[in-house]
Amino acid sequence: MSVLQNAVKTSEGVSLNGFLLSPVVEQCSGCDRVRTFEEQDFCSSYPNPGSKWTGGRCNFATHIKTQTAAAAKVNPLKASKRAAKGR
Ligand code: SF4
Repeated sequence: MSVLQNAVKTSEGVSLNGFLLSPVVEQCSGCDRVRTFEEQDFCSSYPNPGSKWTGGRCNFATHIKTQTAAAAKVNPLKASKRAAKGR
């Protein structure tokens, strides 16, 4: 995992280009955009990863598509149920 570049530690927290950063949330684990800084994980694309997940999954997540594809493969029953529902 790479280190977050250009990040600085301020009295208010970790800041990048003037944005205060919040650490990544649980759902981010496995995403390629996660960067570490001062032993915490941050997103290289969003200052506030939690908000990227409040309305569903993060549209920049790199780890989700692969997981869904793999899940569909190992679980054909669920996939066919979904298909039967017309989704
Ligand atoms: S791109 Fe989305 S899923 Fe990936 S670390 Fe950032 S907020 Fe999390």
